[in-house]
Amino acid sequence: MQNIYDVAVIGAGISGLAAANVFSREDLRVCVFEKSRGLGGRTSTRRWGSSESFTRADLGAQFTYARNPGWQDFVTSQEGMRRPASDTDLERERFIHPEGMSRFAKSLFDFSPRPLEVRFETRVIRVERLPDDGGAWLLSCETPSGTSIFSKARNLVIALPLPQAIDLIDQSREKSKSDSVTLAKLRNIPYSRCIAFVGIAKASENFHGPGILEVKCSTENLGITGIFDQNEKGLHSGKSTLVIHTTPEFSLANWEVQQEVLAEKIWANACSLLRLIGKSPFRATPEVRVVHRWKFARPERFYPDGFAKVDDLGHSIGVCGDAFAFGGMDGAFASGEALARGFFRGVIV
Ligand SMILES: Cc1cc2nc3c(=O)[nH]c(=O)nc-3n(C[C@H](O)[C@H](O)[C@H](O)COP(=O)(O)OP(=O)(O)OC[C@H]3O[C@@H](n4cnc5c(N)ncnc54)[C@H](O)[C@@H]3O)c2cc1C
Repeated sequence: MQNIYDVAVIGAGISGLAAANVFSREDLRVCVFEKSRGLGGRTSTRRWGSSESFTRADLGAQFTYARNPGWQDFVTSQEGMRRPASDTDLERERFIHPEGMSRFAKSLFDFSPRPLEVRFETRVIRVERLPDDGGAWLLSCETPSGTSIFSKARNLVIALPLPQAIDLIDQSREKSKSDSVTLAKLRNIPYSRCIAFVGIAKASENFHGPGILEVKCSTENLGITGIFDQNEKGLHSGKSTLVIHTTPEFSLANWEVQQEVLAEKIWANACSLLRLIGKSPFRATPEVRVVHRWKFARPERFYPDGFAKVDDLGHSIGVCGDAFAFGGMDGAFASGEALARGFFRGVIV
């Protein structure tokens, strides 16, 4: 029999890495398959500039709560962790990583008791259960150059936004088959979209943005859920940098709008918003404007359990992510860990 992993985890976001860590701790041979070039998924930190002088911004998650004890221990053990000075959420403690939110994923990877094997730029496009080979899963994967890769694993975990998880399951089974009760419930959890705008000021200028401004008012918010001054937030960054997130409604209505036009519109709305709510205007206009589209930003509701077991491909698959538990990064972590623990209790296989 060729090389077979004990577990294949699809997705190197927080939930996939949390599950992989538990498997690895128990001495299982685990491989994580990740379609992009890096770890972290929706905790994405992007850098601009040279290695000596760079600017960075969090495109997705801006901070994390610590509603799970394991996540809290992990987060507070990170060097330089602090509560942002200009935080607008005074009720619950939340944290940002001074090197950017994707650093949490990298630390999870480093924390693994045994080196984790991650296959980057490897998109899983189909999974099937082989009748021979002791019933292993065969994963068909694609690389950016179009090369096909095949891998085998005895157990399978899908750690993706639910619509992508379901898409993969649908690609892998007969179209005529009806859904199991669990799959039907998962299908019923849609994800909202978000457009992230990044504005970087000239080296000599500073936006003096409103720190972390989350917009609670939904009728007059001009399509904006938050303005996050990356420097004030506590991210070590060379130039003054802002990230603006748009509402699900604005994102859907403007999804196809051309990049430059969209950037202009979001910036104009952010300026109007500050006027509307009586905040001082920005003192600079962005020299660099970048727009990133998140098609599956956040689940619109949650599955009642910490993870799911899906049997629609003839054998159990574990599904975890931020649509389980309570959402967000800490919810994704809790879900990944709960799934892996369920595996050892025999809940999955
Ligand atoms: C704009 C935005 C703002 C947010 N703000 C916050 C916040 O402030 N605080 C907070 O706690 N949470 C926030 N979130 C949510 C948080 O980022 C997520 O809940 C969490 O990161 C989800 O982790 P995950 O592992 O479940 O999924 P993901 O991070 O989505 O990981 C899935 C991974 O799977 C990969 N993948 C997808 N398809 C395939 C495939 N076929 N084969 C291989 N790999 C694949 C993806 O590239 C990705 O790396 C925000 C999200 C967005 C988008």
